[in-house]
Amino acid sequence: MQLIILFIFKAKGGRFMKNNSAMFQLSYGLFVLSAKEGDKSNGCIVNTVQQVTSSPNRILVAVNKGNYTHDMIVNTGVFNVSILSEDVVFDTFQHFGFQSGRDVNKMEGFSDYQIAENGIFYLTKGANAYLCAKVFQTIDLGTHTLFLADVTDGDLLNNTASVTYTYYHKNIKPQPKETKTSGWRCKICGYVYEGEELPEDFVCPLCKHGAEDFEKI
Ligand code: FE
Repeated sequence: MQLIILFIFKAKGGRFMKNNSAMFQLSYGLFVLSAKEGDKSNGCIVNTVQQVTSSPNRILVAVNKGNYTHDMIVNTGVFNVSILSEDVVFDTFQHFGFQSGRDVNKMEGFSDYQIAENGIFYLTKGANAYLCAKVFQTIDLGTHTLFLADVTDGDLLNNTASVTYTYYHKNIKPQPKETKTSGWRCKICGYVYEGEELPEDFVCPLCKHGAEDFEKI
């Protein structure tokens, strides 16, 4: 229950908080969430994978409904999580995070993967482990769906440290260039919205994060 409350607060952009920046002190990992429907495979970047119980071994992930991978998981109930490590390159975030599987085939020309026993791919570069999961419950969170899932398989790939959201911002994401444009910058991918006021319901066209992830420039 506590977790769900937390997500609702995040979706509201902390409007009732003394300081919304408190939310940025939460630590997150980063993951490629992958799925397969028919003969189409796709993956997206998420930061919300958590283990919730160990016996049985269960995880959760909250996925934005705008993601193509979201619909594939709704339809198939199965997904993989590649746990990204500190040697992951920015290209991986651009490839899986800043474009949609509805517009491009993310698997075309991409070869740094293997297929798990459930038929879904996982990353072999920039990842230190993968998990295979089967959904047993979904909760509608408005902008996102929360998937609760049993871990059905998984393997350790190497011992490189898992990347955190903070590490990504400090060491992987290119630092923003000085700009004379005034507006709002997406803290996730660097997209710039030109204009004085950022609409409250604005969603980044590149990475699909909401207005709460923008900063004034
Ligand atoms: Fe963005």
